[in-house]
Amino acid sequence: MPHDNKNIMVVLSSPSGVGKTTITKKIQQKYQSFKLSVSHTTRPPRSNEVNGIDYHFVTNKEFEKLIQNNEFYEYAKIFDNYYGTLKKSINENFKNYDIIFDIDWQGTKQLSKFKNLDLLKIYLIPDNKKELKKRLIERNQNTKEEIQKRFNAYAEDVIHWSDYDYILINENLEICFQQIEKIISNEKKISSISAQVAQ
Ligand code: 5GP
Repeated sequence: MPHDNKNIMVVLSSPSGVGKTTITKKIQQKYQSFKLSVSHTTRPPRSNEVNGIDYHFVTNKEFEKLIQNNEFYEYAKIFDNYYGTLKKSINENFKNYDIIFDIDWQGTKQLSKFKNLDLLKIYLIPDNKKELKKRLIERNQNTKEEIQKRFNAYAEDVIHWSDYDYILINENLEICFQQIEKIISNEKKISSISAQVAQ
């Protein structure tokens, strides 16, 4: 249900396999005010994914047409597939909802250039690299080659954590979620106070 307070935009990024998707889903379940930004992608759907809910799955041709028409706030090629955030869906939803973005560091950089989007940027890291590989294998969503590719991208990914407002360690999902809840609730208070000041 839409809400009355001033809305906020939260960006969650992490190397692949750190638990970001689980956390974004938990935020949505806990806070009715939050909508997940559903990205477009050319990646094929996984068996548990639903078109329009997890992603909008499109062809390369369709994605490239959207790029040409300047319809994205941001897009990036990640692990050989395109991923992007449409301007239209964010502009419509932000009137009534807080938004959460599950996007990579390239997308975060591009979004940050839009001064009309006031972003709270959170970067999640694993407690160690070994644990990351274990999680990528355990979640059983990728082929061996894809797991290796995602694992290899780790070093290139984490160097961008300095672009974020908070860096959190996801050693324990519940504790990490509690930390995010505190950050979000603080940000919502700040944003509502600053709206009052501006009146
Ligand atoms: P996956 O294939 O595991 O769903 O996602 C791979 C990576 O793409 C993740 O880091 C995810 O955050 C990122 N991603 C998902 N949607 C978008 C998007 O719209 N833009 C960008 N830049 N990255 C995205």
